[in-house]
Amino acid sequence: MIDQERLLDDFIALTRIDRPSRREAAAARFLRRRLQELGATVMEDGAATSTGGDGGNLLARWPGQGSTTLLFCAHMDVVTPANGIEPRREDDLIVSAGETVLGADDGAGLCAILAGIRAVMEYDLPHPPLEVLFTVCEEVGLLGVKYAVAQGQLTAKYGFTFDGGNPQEVVIAGPAQDSFTITVLGKAAHAGVHPEEGINAIQTAAQAIASLPLGRLDEETTANIGVIHGGQATNIVPDLVTIEGEARSHDPQKLAEVTQKIAQSFTAAALANQAVAKIQIERAYEAFHIPLQHPLLTLLQAAMAKTGLEMQTTASGGGSDSNVLNAAGIPTVTLGCGMHRVHTTDEYLAIPELVQAARLVYQLVTSQVDNG
Ligand SMILES: [Zn+2]
Repeated sequence: MIDQERLLDDFIALTRIDRPSRREAAAARFLRRRLQELGATVMEDGAATSTGGDGGNLLARWPGQGSTTLLFCAHMDVVTPANGIEPRREDDLIVSAGETVLGADDGAGLCAILAGIRAVMEYDLPHPPLEVLFTVCEEVGLLGVKYAVAQGQLTAKYGFTFDGGNPQEVVIAGPAQDSFTITVLGKAAHAGVHPEEGINAIQTAAQAIASLPLGRLDEETTANIGVIHGGQATNIVPDLVTIEGEARSHDPQKLAEVTQKIAQSFTAAALANQAVAKIQIERAYEAFHIPLQHPLLTLLQAAMAKTGLEMQTTASGGGSDSNVLNAAGIPTVTLGCGMHRVHTTDEYLAIPELVQAARLVYQLVTSQVDNG
């Protein structure tokens, strides 16, 4: 039922279109044509106004039978190095030939969704109402999906985000994340002549960081300081240092505690050194958890069985479009579509897994959904 050669042709063609975050418009034109060929009504939203990119999310719709609308979601942008990707087939794999990622994250998701829906539409098979959301700027903070959700255009009851590796694995839980930027302000002075007049912002920040719990804090909580900038020259007591980091937890209470501890530790170090700490904390996305007895998983398990897949549920340590869709009231899981070693130049696509994902889309779309 899945036309594998057409699926791979689409993947290769899409991969040759540069689509780093905020520059997805050319890929969106390609995908919009494909969606329209399948009979969808396609609109592009105004996400560019909030992302600063060259285009918006694509939202495609097909009317169908019953009232249970299903949503299929994947993201159009690719992490760097993303330009000039040369895909190369090696047996059952597609790899990038050059110095770039492959962009199977998330070209595999986009193409699996197209192929699964194509198999339904070409044979005019009955299906429920469908929505397809292809997002921009997933890799730079889930910006596209946040915009789409804020527009209130989505009507789906259940969602499926294709943005993972092994198609048997179903991500039913994701952590919430807080992102923080902390600026420590000290006082500049000549380091050799008047060091006692200075307040060392780097040392203040170091004291705060040294007292922090970082890394894996427990089985569902992590914290990281990822970026630090500061100082100008060895003969100047540094008056400014900026620290960027994040904390994640599946438990919002624990996340609040970790974030508070981080803020307190910088406040205390600043106080002890007569420096000032300016602390900005932002909720990047909310946690989600779909219970095992949820009807979404019953539906999915049946469709997976027809595809020859045994459902394995798992929790993710990362954020994806699913976090935002769940927070917006659309129970959504994340599914695999054959991408591996993502965010590296060793990224590859496992073709049999891509085809399984397309089959799963087909089975989900053609399965009988109760009309409640
Ligand atoms: Zn992805």
